[in-house]
Amino acid sequence: MRIAVVFKDRCQPKRCHLECMAFCPPQRTGTEVIWLDPETGKAVISEETCIACGICVRKCPFDAIRIIGLPEELKEDLVHQYGKNAFRMFRLPVPKKGEVVGLLGPNGIGKTTAVSILSGETAPNLGHYRRKKPHWDDVLEYFAGTELHDYLEKIADKELTTAIKPQYVDRLNKMYSGRVRELLVKIDRNDRLGDIARDLDLTTFLDRDIGQLSGGELQRVAIAATMLKDADVYFFDEPSSYLDIYQRLQVAKVIQSLSKEKYVVVVEHDLAVLDFLADHVYLMYGSEGAYGIIAQPRPVRTAINVYLGGYMKEENIRFRDREIRFESHPPRGDWKAATLVRFEALTKAYESFELSVAPGQLRKGEVVGVVGPNATGKTTFVKMLAGVEAPTSGVVEGRWQVSYKPQYLESAYEGTVRDLFASAIGKKAESGYFETEILEPLKVKSMMERDVSTLSGGELQRVAIALCLGRDADIYLIDEPSAYLDSNQRIETAKTIRRIMEKEARTGLIVDHDVYFIDLVSDSLMVFSGEAGVRGLGEGPFPMREGMNRFLRTVGITFRRDADTHRPRINKLDSRLDREQKSAGEFYYAVEDPARAA
Ligand code: ADP
Ligand code: ADP
Repeated sequence: MRIAVVFKDRCQPKRCHLECMAFCPPQRTGTEVIWLDPETGKAVISEETCIACGICVRKCPFDAIRIIGLPEELKEDLVHQYGKNAFRMFRLPVPKKGEVVGLLGPNGIGKTTAVSILSGETAPNLGHYRRKKPHWDDVLEYFAGTELHDYLEKIADKELTTAIKPQYVDRLNKMYSGRVRELLVKIDRNDRLGDIARDLDLTTFLDRDIGQLSGGELQRVAIAATMLKDADVYFFDEPSSYLDIYQRLQVAKVIQSLSKEKYVVVVEHDLAVLDFLADHVYLMYGSEGAYGIIAQPRPVRTAINVYLGGYMKEENIRFRDREIRFESHPPRGDWKAATLVRFEALTKAYESFELSVAPGQLRKGEVVGVVGPNATGKTTFVKMLAGVEAPTSGVVEGRWQVSYKPQYLESAYEGTVRDLFASAIGKKAESGYFETEILEPLKVKSMMERDVSTLSGGELQRVAIALCLGRDADIYLIDEPSAYLDSNQRIETAKTIRRIMEKEARTGLIVDHDVYFIDLVSDSLMVFSGEAGVRGLGEGPFPMREGMNRFLRTVGITFRRDADTHRPRINKLDSRLDREQKSAGEFYYAVEDPARAA
């Protein structure tokens, strides 16, 4: 079976020379394969006459075409297709009562599509995209005799009701106004607000205006609003973004307790959190934006091991050329590098917040992971380095150029991604270095001609990271780069950041809450602690072992190591290993081997 896909957002016939048509061999000899749709003005490809030579794919200046050969049997499994030359979804996950079912796969592989079908929002068309309104009867006949049939029948008959926590929570404060409490009371049919507000730590901001909430607060309000709905099936699309690690686990526990009597499906890219949260996981693979296939369900531990390994044996599918490895021992922190910044003890007092920072130094070429709860002064510290804020006491020697990627991204820019780069970094935007070291690994190249306002959250994030890395600076402060990136993109981003800092002998300060990401990106750790919004203490940078131990001690979380892959796995609170590791003071890495330490 051959499928042809045209990415409509990339196809721009007005700005190219219609290379796809001009170079198509059958078209040149008079067989129509590619034409422009009179309505949309975009290219249309006939899958019947296309000979799959792949020339149009290579010639398209905007990388807008995919021609893909798929096994014939897969035809039977086509569940939904958005249109001609559009995305196709093969197979579906099966929600199970009493279990948290996870979906894991790259962005653009159909997770939202699957959720939309399972929640009854979209009736799948089984590939008949020309039909105006797909009929649930056809769908039920198609699924007859399968595990999913009874579930979908109840969804179609509205016997099962659903609630969805959407992915993008940072827009909620523009959609709603009024106090948090008023919003939640309206949804609360069963008088559960008190319990949920306590479990999710909402009590301190229940009487604040929604417009004033931070991302992490909005995330918890969105989760609470979903849980308060009296539904049978709950979907949580990325419940962890903007939350610190402590809050991520708090949310995970609340979602797990919900799953005891309900159906729960989650999409989550923080692998340590998914590992802790889900019972079974469906890996999803295919070609981003073109088609997605749901693999068989696996127990969460196996699923994540397979995912990191990059190869599914049962399906014989490789989805990454290399395996991702975690070391159970910290890297040797004794490498020599010149000091970039030295700071003595610093303090900063705002009206209602006080920060103290212990003396420390940042080295050239070093990537410092910055960890700690939200609102403990991480950004304030960096502003003092940049000379934007003067310390109340203490001195930073020198003044440092800082390139900053903020946590919340604005897509209000009018113009294309290319225009944005040109206006922000000038000539450098056209350099080969920028292209090969930054745009290519972050996969921003194919977005260059798109309007910034049309980018998805994950696309905007990659553009913002590229922009930050492209500026000339001494220190690169990158605040929560992992938000809205899929797990693969997180891994690529970590590598890109490391490479740039090392090559350019610059210093990276990376604030993030995804522990796997922090592990992959950091040479050392700066640890913030304190009481959110009241007082903060910044210490370090420390070598990885000491930094992880200090950080995880303050949040009370330990990690064990997977027996097969050595990847870190969160321990259940008060389990035997949790207690043993806490008493040994080893929260993250394997217990120190005296021979190694010597
Ligand atoms: P994920 O949630 O894994 O990022 P989605 O299910 O959102 O993936 O999208 C998969 C693909 O389907 C994307 O390429 C997206 O552009 C496409 N798609 C989603 N909704 C529609 C739609 N209504 N019409 C056409 N294409 C769509
Ligand atoms: P983090 O980066 O760890 O989330 P921040 O450094 O952004 O923390 O903020 C720490 C605290 O300082 C917050 O409670 C914030 O409201 C407060 N704060 C930050 N900047 C100012 C300011 N200019 N005036 C008053 N309070 C501020």
